[in-house]
Amino acid sequence: MNIHEYQAKELLAKFGAPIPAGHAALTVEEAVKAAESLPGPLYVVKAQIHAGGRGKGKFKGAAADAKGGVRLARTIEDVRKNAGEMLGQTLVTIQTGEAGKEVNRLYVTDGADIAREYYLSMLVDRATGRIAVVASTEGGMDIETVAHDTPEKITTITIDPAEGFQPHHGRAVAFALKLKGDLNKQAVKVTEQLYNAFVATDMSMLEVNPLVETTDGKLLVLDAKVSFDSNALYRHPDVLALRDLTEEDPMEVEASKYDLAYIKLDGNIGCMVNGAGLAMATMDIIKLNGAFPANFLDVGGGASKEKVTAAFKIILSDPAVEGILVNIFGGIMRCDIIAEGIIAAAKEVNLSVPLVVRLEGTNVQQGKDILAASGLPIVSADDLGDAARKIVAQVKKAA
Ligand code: ADP
Ligand code: MG
Repeated sequence: MNIHEYQAKELLAKFGAPIPAGHAALTVEEAVKAAESLPGPLYVVKAQIHAGGRGKGKFKGAAADAKGGVRLARTIEDVRKNAGEMLGQTLVTIQTGEAGKEVNRLYVTDGADIAREYYLSMLVDRATGRIAVVASTEGGMDIETVAHDTPEKITTITIDPAEGFQPHHGRAVAFALKLKGDLNKQAVKVTEQLYNAFVATDMSMLEVNPLVETTDGKLLVLDAKVSFDSNALYRHPDVLALRDLTEEDPMEVEASKYDLAYIKLDGNIGCMVNGAGLAMATMDIIKLNGAFPANFLDVGGGASKEKVTAAFKIILSDPAVEGILVNIFGGIMRCDIIAEGIIAAAKEVNLSVPLVVRLEGTNVQQGKDILAASGLPIVSADDLGDAARKIVAQVKKAA
C-alpha cells in the first residue's frame, strides 16, 4: 500500500524527522488558507498523487513550457493561481504511464533554501534478509540517470533487523553523503529516525529524494515516498486509515473487499485459481501456450460461493478478458462445492466468454459431473497443460 507525500511526512515527523511545515488542500481556497498559515516568503505547491517524478511531470493539455507538479510560489496570489492550474488536471510523469493521474489533492509547504540535494532510501532486501539503506550525494530529480550512468555514486549499507540501528550505520550514511561536522551528526540522527519509522510501521520502501541541506546548514526531508507491506497492515490500523482508494485500481479495491488477491495484468485470459503458487504456474502455462493472463487472482484456500461469484464479476468487469480459466485444486475445499459455486456465479453474471475449468482433488468426479450436467457451455479440462491449451484455443476461435 502506498500513501501520499504529505501523509508520509506527517508520519515521519512523529519519529522526529525534520520536515518543513505544510498542509494538504483539496480546493484552491484550502491551498490559499494553508499558505497563509505558513511563514513564507517562499511556498511550494505540490501535486499529491501516488507517483514520483512530479517535478518534471507535465499536465495534459498544458502549454509546452508550463510548469510541472511541484511549483514554487512567491506570493499567496501565486499559490492561488498555481493551485487553480493543478487541481482537477491530469499529471503525467515517468511513473504514471501515459494515462497520467488526476490531481485531486495538493500539499502546500514551506519553501526551503536549498544548498545541496541528497538521496536516501530504505527498502527490504529479500536477498540478504536485511534492510538496505541507499545513499547518494546526487539526490534530486535525476537519480535514475545517476543509477544508470554513475552507479559508483550510490552507496548501499545494510542493517540486520535483529541487531537494529547502530550509530555506525548512521555514520556510514553520513560518510557516503560526504557530510562533516554538525551536518554529519544530523545525518546520523535522520538515518536513525527514518529507520525507526520504517521498522515500526512495517514499510517495504521509504524514499527521501531529496534530503536537502539548507543554506543555513540544516538537513530536511523535502520529499518522501512510502510503501507499506500489505501483509502487515492488519497490525497498523492507523496506517491503513491513510489509504486513498481513488489512487488504486478500482478492480483491486473491489477484490480486497472480498479478501481476494487480485492483480490486474495486460493480457486477455482471466484466471481464477486457489493458491498463489498455483496461480503463478497457471499464468506461466498460459504464456507457454502463446497467450497472456489478464490478471493474477488467488481466491484462497476456503473460497465460498460468494467469493467465487465476486471473483467472476471482477474478472469479467475487465473489458480485455476474452476467456476465463478456472484452475482449482480441491484440498481442504471439495470440488463439488467449487463446481456449484462456479455454476451459480456463471449464471448470475451471465457469462459471455468461454470458460475452461480444471478441477483436481477431493470429490473431483462429482465436481465434473455437476459441471457437465449444468447445461452451461463450460469446457472441462483434465490437467493444467490441457486447461491452458483449451482456453487459448477457445479464445483464438472466438476472435
Ligand atoms: P518529485 O520527486 O515527485 O519530482 P519532489 O518533492 O522531489 O517531487 O520535488 C521536486 C524538486 O522540487 C525537488 O528536487 C526540489 O528541488 C524542489 N522542491 C520540492 N519541495 C521543495 C521545497 N519545500 N522547497 C524548495 N524546493 C522544493
Ligand atoms: Mg522527489
